Amino acid sequence: MSSFPSMADASGRTIGAEELAAVSRVLQSGMLSSVWGTEVRALEREMADRHGVSHAVAASSGTAALHLAVAGVAPDPGDEIITSPITDFGTVAPILAQNAVPVFADVDPYTGNLDPAAVAAAIGPRTRAILAVHLFGAAADLRAVAAAAGVPLIEDCAQAWLSRYPDGTLAGTAGAIGCFSLQQWKHITCGDGGLAITDDPVLARRMRLFADKGWPRDDARRHVSLGLNYRMTELAGAVARAQLAKLPGVLADRRRTARRLVDTLADLPGVHLPADVDAHAWWLFPIVLDPPLTNHEVAGKLAAAGIPARAGYLQQPLHCAPALTEAPVYGASRFPLTVPPADRLPAYGPGAFPVAERMIERTLLVVDWNERYTDAHVDEIAQAVRTAVTS
Ligand SMILES: *Cc1c(COP(=O)(O)O)cnc(C)c1O
Repeated sequence: MSSFPSMADASGRTIGAEELAAVSRVLQSGMLSSVWGTEVRALEREMADRHGVSHAVAASSGTAALHLAVAGVAPDPGDEIITSPITDFGTVAPILAQNAVPVFADVDPYTGNLDPAAVAAAIGPRTRAILAVHLFGAAADLRAVAAAAGVPLIEDCAQAWLSRYPDGTLAGTAGAIGCFSLQQWKHITCGDGGLAITDDPVLARRMRLFADKGWPRDDARRHVSLGLNYRMTELAGAVARAQLAKLPGVLADRRRTARRLVDTLADLPGVHLPADVDAHAWWLFPIVLDPPLTNHEVAGKLAAAGIPARAGYLQQPLHCAPALTEAPVYGASRFPLTVPPADRLPAYGPGAFPVAERMIERTLLVVDWNERYTDAHVDEIAQAVRTAVTS
């Protein structure tokens, strides 16, 4: 049994001489703040260029980048933003933080991505944006439904670096704003960090102001709008630049080994694998099981065989999270979920989105994926999955 490279340590990260040089360059300069430094500004330029858009705004985390995006589309208190029940809580928290209401819709049973028809049915008079999540790196295509509703599309690309839509469009460039994470467990990392990209100069300026206390640095010391401090440091920015340069290699390696596992398991009955290998970012390798197979049973067998795999990805879909179903949001109050300002109480709690619930509870299995996997790692995973599913 081999040991699998892990994103928890150097075995499964691409941190090397370039990142060391980046950190010492910043430390030797004595300037650690991006307000006056050059690294984060260069990172933003490199990120925008890589995606063929005109603006990128760096932030202290992926959640912060999503908060910039939500603040950018400027919901009024009580306005609704539609998003996925299967995602990181960092997708949902910024909606609440802007006093808007997270509205969920059900998902596709094989990708776990928002189902466009369910999103269309969830649109209401107060829908202010659609926040699509490209789960595990598969593009969730909500372009048509957002366009039909006349609302901006925000893309959460935290798990979808260099993912593509079926027509080749790069994830993060399809809507108004694309948001990325540089946290420890993502494709590339600087510990914590985020980036929001857009082609819209108005949105870019609003996000930049929100990340820096509403303070236009090209002007006098005055505060023109509400903003927090979500700035990325120069140390993080310099590391992120080195990591961004390695991104195409990371994706190529993850796709090559994912292709091998997809091909090896293609004939296995009862398992569903992502189809478009070269468009997928393979943050994790998701497997969806047909009954009578269950994710907990198969994950148990894989764990016993030493394979880094888990059932469900989340313990519960986010529409069942106590943070939304029962906990106070601000002080002792449930504002903004309660009326006023919400016009309708969204559907939260068990039973609201049965496809998402079934995936988490019974059908979805995720295998950790990594650019350092060798063919031998893949073959070991394939063998263990085959045994777990057929025995
Ligand atoms: C990781 C992640 C986030 C949050 O990013 P952080 O950098 O951890 O704040 C948001 N959405 C998704 C889909 C994620 O995977």
